[in-house]
Amino acid sequence: MMITDTHTHLYSEAFDEDRDSVIRNAISKGVGRFFMPAIDSTYTQRMLDLEKDFPDHVYLMTGVHPTHVKENFKEELQHVEQMLSKHKFYAIGEIGIDLFWEKKYLKEQQIAFKSQIRLAKKNKLPIAIHCRDAFDAVFEILEEEKGDNLRGIFHCFTGTFEQAQKAISYNMKLGIGGVVTFKNGKIDKFLHDIDMKHIVLETDAPYLAPTPYRGKRNESAYIVNVLEKLAFIYQTTEDEIALKTTKNSIEVFGV
Ligand SMILES: [Zn+2]
Repeated sequence: MMITDTHTHLYSEAFDEDRDSVIRNAISKGVGRFFMPAIDSTYTQRMLDLEKDFPDHVYLMTGVHPTHVKENFKEELQHVEQMLSKHKFYAIGEIGIDLFWEKKYLKEQQIAFKSQIRLAKKNKLPIAIHCRDAFDAVFEILEEEKGDNLRGIFHCFTGTFEQAQKAISYNMKLGIGGVVTFKNGKIDKFLHDIDMKHIVLETDAPYLAPTPYRGKRNESAYIVNVLEKLAFIYQTTEDEIALKTTKNSIEVFGV
């Protein structure tokens, strides 16, 4: 079985004590591909180091996370462009808008989101979208930027059925993670009406651990709990979910 975790922050400080064993454990469970979204320039070296340690398993993205868009966001965007010119990345992410943590920099978040979408198009790369309490603001920009040259993943999708359809209409796959296992997660109620070709798996480790680990540190190995829930929702085998979602991830990332 080949499971792809399309969104995991294994370079995070949360794994400083046991990163290698966490990754090896995930690999032993069949999670062979880790796609890592960026946060900001302070994490770049950690990400590059991790890629060096696990070259057959780690795929990096570059980008500025919306909660890290501050006064210095223009310098951060320059860093992303610089990195793109000297290293291979598989997506621009995670990018988007977050109005849950911080509303103060909405204008800057919008500018950063838009300019990173353009950067992705210019480099023929997909995007990984972070959207929290901000569906309208995110859709507004996707509507302006939509087209055949725009594709990606709507990471940690937690919207309604209508919002799912809208995201799909912009060539986005839905990133499904721990939330689908939550009692009040809501997306498990309509996911069976969304064709499996539109979904990919993710953990967002160290955040959003699935049941029964909810509230604890998340790990890529816990993606098997997401897999199990999806097999139940789609009334199929875990093998088929792993196969199809990995195929979908290859379609997005080109690898
Ligand atoms: Zn993330």
